[in-house]
Amino acid sequence: MTLPKTHSAIQLTDPGPSPTVSLNSNIPLPTLQNGHVLVKNTYAGINYIENYFISGIYQAPSDPYTLGREGEGIIVAVSQELAQHLDPTVRDLKVGDRVAYLQAPAYAQYSAAPVDKVLKLPEGLAEGLGAAVLLQGLTAVTLATVSYPAKKGDIVLVHAAAGGVGLLLVQYLNKVIGARVIATASSEEKLALAKESGAEWAFLYGPSGNEWIEAVKSIPEVKERGGVAGIYDSVGKATFEGGLEVIAVKGTFVSFGNASGSVEPFSLSRLTAKNIAILRPQLFPYIRTRAEFTRYVDELVRLIYEGTLKVKLKVYPWENFDQALQDIRSRGTTGKLILKIA
Ligand code: NDP
Repeated sequence: MTLPKTHSAIQLTDPGPSPTVSLNSNIPLPTLQNGHVLVKNTYAGINYIENYFISGIYQAPSDPYTLGREGEGIIVAVSQELAQHLDPTVRDLKVGDRVAYLQAPAYAQYSAAPVDKVLKLPEGLAEGLGAAVLLQGLTAVTLATVSYPAKKGDIVLVHAAAGGVGLLLVQYLNKVIGARVIATASSEEKLALAKESGAEWAFLYGPSGNEWIEAVKSIPEVKERGGVAGIYDSVGKATFEGGLEVIAVKGTFVSFGNASGSVEPFSLSRLTAKNIAILRPQLFPYIRTRAEFTRYVDELVRLIYEGTLKVKLKVYPWENFDQALQDIRSRGTTGKLILKIA
């Protein structure tokens, strides 16, 4: 197969107060290093994290920096030593396979993806779903089974419950584990969606941003148990203090995002009043090895295939990346957004 020498990609320059994000052409094709496959992308997933790089909350590894961290496409080249790989699901990857992957800049026509994070897509999986489910789906599964392994009947709280991770997390907690979910979100439409996905209770944050606290505390079952057993909080700064109020004795507080800003440093001695545990996990240390990645991804794909987990998808042509990034930043979106790469 003859490959072009250059391609186009959506790149960030000058992250911080006045960033530039633009679709640039004539960028050299990624070089294919050991342990990688080269993928011609068809779709790329949009994740809230791009905003952290654009605004400078997280430091971009380079300037310019190609955005995106999950994609779907067709393998166009494999690195030579792949034939000796111990894992047959890696060894068998070949040119022409339709795959999804994580951990490579994906807002581009071509990406070099690390084989440990490449999934050969099963036949019949709808186009775009591969790019849609890996990052948010694996986050939801690992949060619900590792960070705080919820149990059947637990009452747990999920903030931003109608977002990409949020909707999958509510579904997994309720439909797979059998936990009872309290959802929060910023609009009635989002609350309705969270309820359709399995939330038993759903509350707006409220005009001051804090009305949800009393709403949660006044649920009779929550009163009876002295609080909620687990909290999954991606909102960060705005909901952290409220979480400490509504959590039960020996509860687990999983803080996994900063959509409203980073949680302020706090004194560890604040945990003693209720003997609570607080975690600040991120996905990748949970899926460091191929075995870990496969374990969670197999379950995720099965649940999607069976229809237990449903993905609410919105597709943007990649020329409209600006609109997509603005939409997710402005809290106007629900479910997952993906870019169709031309
Ligand atoms: P979402 O689709 O959930 O979009 C972000 C949501 O955050 C918004 O829709 C909004 O929902 C909510 N939000 C609350 N406060 C604000 C605010 N001040 N400004 C903007 N949005 C706000 O995005 P993702 O599903 O991609 O990610 C969800 C969260 O999970 C993010 O914080 C992300 O960083 C985190 N994450 C963490 C991972 C990890 O490994 N730790 C992995 C993946 C995601 P509403 O209006 O209802 O409040």
